[in-house]
Amino acid sequence: MFPKNLDKLCKQLGYRFNDLGLLKQALTHRSYSAANNERLEFLGDAILSFVIADYLLEQFQEKSEGELSRLRAYLVKGDTLSELALKLNLGDYLYLGQGELKSGGYRRASILADTFEALIAAIYLDGGLTQCQQVIRQLFEQYFDKNTLNEALIDAKTALQEWLQAHKMPLPVYALIKTEGLDPHQIFYVQCSVLALGKQTSGVGSTRRKAEQEAAQLLLQALKTDA
Ligand code: MN
Repeated sequence: MFPKNLDKLCKQLGYRFNDLGLLKQALTHRSYSAANNERLEFLGDAILSFVIADYLLEQFQEKSEGELSRLRAYLVKGDTLSELALKLNLGDYLYLGQGELKSGGYRRASILADTFEALIAAIYLDGGLTQCQQVIRQLFEQYFDKNTLNEALIDAKTALQEWLQAHKMPLPVYALIKTEGLDPHQIFYVQCSVLALGKQTSGVGSTRRKAEQEAAQLLLQALKTDA
């Protein structure tokens, strides 16, 4: 009935559709047919937000509302969704119009992320919330590592400071090396050093704070590679 091996996709999802028509609609881009996945995408976006929020609330008893929403934004972003779509090889299953096919639409991150959202909605409509929730939690498992999530939450300067304190080391020193150009197009060059460790990095940015963040990030990376 369907030219594509949808069985394989269902296996990867760990979900079997009762109504394959829903699955096909989720995989149909607007360039292919009027019965496309745009409306499903709309719903899938909301379901993902909800299911991830629910997961975060359950897992992180100690986090504030602000922290939880930053974590949700980190998890439910286009990059993550297109990455998940790539892992499922969604590009191979897409129904695309000729124009999109020729221009390589099956590789476009935004199309892949949107299709992933539509797929989530199709599972919800087909099997209900509990099943859908299971599939989402399973797919996102690799992103649920607590250390990674905690790191995503703090900015680089804070992360560096915490790392140094944990290792009983002196705090970093930030110094503005130079600026170029005139406000509002100024560029800031900042150096971050931990002299006791003989480490020094530099960062560039459109604000002093951004330059400091970059330098801190680089220093943190250097320390972690050494450790
Ligand atoms: Mn979308």
